[in-house]
Amino acid sequence: MNIGKKSTCPNCHGATWFGGDAADIPDVLDIYPKEEWCSCGPKIEVAGKEYPPQGPKADSWGRR
Ligand SMILES: [Zn+2]
Repeated sequence: MNIGKKSTCPNCHGATWFGGDAADIPDVLDIYPKEEWCSCGPKIEVAGKEYPPQGPKADSWGRR
């Protein structure tokens, strides 16, 4: 099973997600305040809420 991970948007440096299924997005992002979320589009709707688009990679996949 793929688990979504937290990611950081390269454009706005907000919190976003990477990997997993769309259904995992709330699990990844709901623990962060919405003000810290990526504000870029297009938004993805999951369970009636809007979430930012997928990030480039998970934060824990190494630094560059
Ligand atoms: Zn963004």
